[in-house]
Amino acid sequence: MTLTHTASLDQGKPKFSELLAQPEVRQRWEKVRKYFFLRESTYDMSNRCNLRCDGCYYYEGEKQFAVENSSVEAWRQLMRDEKKRGITYVVLAGAEPSLVPERLEVCFQEIPLGSIATNGLKKIPESVGYKIHISVWGNDETSFRVRKAKDLLIKQIDNYRNDPRAVFVYTFTRNNIDEVREVAGGLVAEDCRLTFNVFSSPVGYAGPLRHDEESLKRVQAAMMALLEHYPQNVLFSAYNAMAHTHKSSLHDLYTCLYPRQNRSQDLGLGRSFRQYRADLNWDRSAACCVPDTDCADCRHYASGSAVVTARLFRHAQESATFKSWLDYVDTYLAVWVMGYPKGENLCAEPVSPPGT
Ligand code: SF4
Ligand code: SF4
Repeated sequence: MTLTHTASLDQGKPKFSELLAQPEVRQRWEKVRKYFFLRESTYDMSNRCNLRCDGCYYYEGEKQFAVENSSVEAWRQLMRDEKKRGITYVVLAGAEPSLVPERLEVCFQEIPLGSIATNGLKKIPESVGYKIHISVWGNDETSFRVRKAKDLLIKQIDNYRNDPRAVFVYTFTRNNIDEVREVAGGLVAEDCRLTFNVFSSPVGYAGPLRHDEESLKRVQAAMMALLEHYPQNVLFSAYNAMAHTHKSSLHDLYTCLYPRQNRSQDLGLGRSFRQYRADLNWDRSAACCVPDTDCADCRHYASGSAVVTARLFRHAQESATFKSWLDYVDTYLAVWVMGYPKGENLCAEPVSPPGT
């Protein structure tokens, strides 16, 4: 999550002060801008997983072959070096990070803002105070089919019920759209919070989970219905739904700034973002938050947290798109930052991304 704090507007468009004229808009701007200091990098904590899911991006490409560095002190030193480099936010992913809790502990001790992507089968110790994103790919029947995991949702809820770190991330594939009501109802009954992801195909993947235009429209309708139905538990906005289910990918809509797509090393993500493998090496040419994802199909929630939020300037040309952008940033801070409360959305209807 890397925001930009430069905004200069086109002539003839409203001045920035005019966009902030409504008190609730100004308040939201003041609330989100405090987080412009966030500078992320991501880290594969392990190359092992206790599941093997169809469509997993980790086991595509070369990263799965990195030899794990199991020295806790090497991880501590990496975090210290990262802090010196200006990194203020870490995304710990994998394969499965819950299998290496001692590495998570040292990361938290050195850089206390961050999040962990986990399948939720094994509980991460409460002493690790990061946000925890628990991946949900459908109901238990679907999880068994796609992830070979029995009673997965029950185990995930048992591990993370009443845990302020936890956000359940429902990944919409082409095949699980109708199940989301049942799954969301079950999570809300346990007072869990949830957000949405959209399956983005790994390079070369042509399997049944890949979306088409029709499935993306159905996903958007399902997101909007649940947002309306469970406004307290669903961390999302109408603009999130629009951006992630558009027929064009995030890269086509906003131009991705992660190094894998962006050659410039001058500013923001291009300068600071790295994606470390489990052996603590990194490769600029492959660096993004979801490497080995097909950029033409990239609608991943983690990508949006940087790709959309970094585009303040494009959204600050008009009131409805600016409010939508504020909703988007507010949503992502609530999903990614401990203690950040989601505000009421400013824009109830999906507006089109700028330039479309
Ligand atoms: S749980 Fe995550 S890392 Fe493990 S196989 Fe499934 S998608 Fe891949
Ligand atoms: S996969 Fe997504 S986040 Fe990664 S480089 Fe491509 S467009 Fe950017």
